Amino acid sequence: LRVFRVLRAAPFPLIAAPRPYTLSARTPRPTKETSSQMIVTIDGPAGSGKSSLAKRVAKALRWMYLDTGATYRAVAYQAQRQGLDIHQPEELDRLCRTLDLDFQWADNGDLRVIVDGADVSDAIRTEQISSFASRVATLPQVRNAMVDKQRQLAAQFDNVVTEGRDQGTVVFPHAQLKIFLDASVEERAKRRQLQLEQSGQPADYDQILQAIRQRDNQDSTRATAPLVAAEDAVKLDTTNLTLDQVETKVLELIQAKRSSRP
Ligand code: C5P
Repeated sequence: LRVFRVLRAAPFPLIAAPRPYTLSARTPRPTKETSSQMIVTIDGPAGSGKSSLAKRVAKALRWMYLDTGATYRAVAYQAQRQGLDIHQPEELDRLCRTLDLDFQWADNGDLRVIVDGADVSDAIRTEQISSFASRVATLPQVRNAMVDKQRQLAAQFDNVVTEGRDQGTVVFPHAQLKIFLDASVEERAKRRQLQLEQSGQPADYDQILQAIRQRDNQDSTRATAPLVAAEDAVKLDTTNLTLDQVETKVLELIQAKRSSRP
């Protein structure tokens, strides 16, 4: 509780904390009064710019940033290590319920993902884990467990910007502002290629394009919580927009919502 108070007092709890702080999705903590909380959801397909945007918005406003794709990636990573596949839903259910998953925010705002005490932040970003995460995310057992974790995490903070596929539709249907980001599949593949190249990973454009198409298809056709814009979401096509432009637009939308609150 003491650590919690220190964090709340910091200008940006997760960036300004004197040293990295580990927030465990398994540890019960006091929850926020939801009436004072502001949640902004950013949903959209792979490569639409959700993570970059969410990180920037969180940094600009000193809000909590939640990368929900990382929770599915962590499950996929651990499942792969344990030799499980998606035809073992009971084992995956057990894995989700016992998963030792921590999020840790570094001073520069980077989110580190810790599984069983090991930093797996880079290991969960491979193309192989991207594709496996998308498959395990089709299982209702896995989704239920991750939705619980995501709500638990968000409940501890005043203001949260969260990104994923179902944040505005399923996880936070009462969010004050919902954004749905999109971009052409070719542009998204180009962005992913650049991202992989920058992190020193192999990046063949045609393969990436094919993998993104496959992931789009998996994410939008699954029976549970498919990727779809919430009816009340603001839709933004980022194909021809810079990240700065998208950020400015979203900060304006947030400001407008805040000023109209009673
Ligand atoms: O966003 P990211 O690419 O890291 O997500 C990895 C995979 O996790 C996605 O392809 C999607 O299948 C799944 N996911 C999801 N719901 C979320 C976030 C991610 O199903 N809220």
